[in-house]
Amino acid sequence: ATPTALMVGTGRGAQLGILLKGPEVLESTRRVDTVVLDKTGTVTTGEMAVTDVFVADGVDVDRLLARAAAVESGSEHPIGRAVVRRADGLDLPDSSEFTNLAGAGVSATVDGVRVSVTRPSDAPGELPAGLRTAIDEASAQGATPVVVSVRDEVAGVIVVADTVKPTSAAAIAELRRMGLRPVLLTGDNEGAARHVAAQVGIVDDAGGAAVIANVRPEGKVDAIARLQADGRVVAMVGDGVNDAAALASADLGLAMGTGTDVAIEASDLTLVSGDLWAVVDAIALARKTLGTIK
Ligand code: ADP
Ligand code: MG
Repeated sequence: ATPTALMVGTGRGAQLGILLKGPEVLESTRRVDTVVLDKTGTVTTGEMAVTDVFVADGVDVDRLLARAAAVESGSEHPIGRAVVRRADGLDLPDSSEFTNLAGAGVSATVDGVRVSVTRPSDAPGELPAGLRTAIDEASAQGATPVVVSVRDEVAGVIVVADTVKPTSAAAIAELRRMGLRPVLLTGDNEGAARHVAAQVGIVDDAGGAAVIANVRPEGKVDAIARLQADGRVVAMVGDGVNDAAALASADLGLAMGTGTDVAIEASDLTLVSGDLWAVVDAIALARKTLGTIK
């Protein structure tokens, strides 16, 4: 394409709320054949809410929530924000030494004891049978259970749930009509991932859910590398700190403008609206500007 065509394409992109790092990004956008989508905050609103709280024997619900919220007040993650909101009105104990357990949860020292809030698979120690059941049921229903542990002992389970963005299903259907293959990639559990995939039509050619779940940030990078090794040209769409490495390693990284600065910096393209229709618009624009794939 001529420099003029690229400039016009870039300008048209800006009008559509698609910000390119440089005009050359249009070329990788045109070549994409697979669109990998992060779940939380990308396909879903990321406005999670606490739907249930379960405690181990002898644990007080408000005390558990207050401690969990004290830890989560250091987190930008939608789960953390949901827990802090749920503890509104409770007296939060002081916390220090906050640690982000990359893609697995968070921990901090609260009132002199170590408290963590993590994925069930990263919880320390034994899970009481009742809490195990609560976790399995929440996952089966498409929700996200996290485990609160105090001094390496499981104290309770907080269940959070999210809703899909109203535009996600239609935008993904359009991507499929354009010949693109969607894949859902998430650090969340398989049940929650499949539930969201079914709601928005993220399926493979055989009609099965195209889902890669339970992965850490480095697992997101590996998943993209595997798709690339299969000969796919991969776009990754994400919003979180945990998506940054994957966004940088994909053939094309697209950040939700509503997401974290780290994700935006790691990407080639920013979608101002945070709406998946902008992914459709970006690919259609690149195809129009540079001509469709031969
Ligand atoms: P996604 O890929 O869906 O955006 P993440 O990679 O951000 O999900 O998180 C993966 C999992 O790690 C979550 O489902 C949750 O179990 C756990 N997790 C991440 N951050 C937190 C947090 N702040 N508090 C509790 N659990 C968390
Ligand atoms: Mg996310």
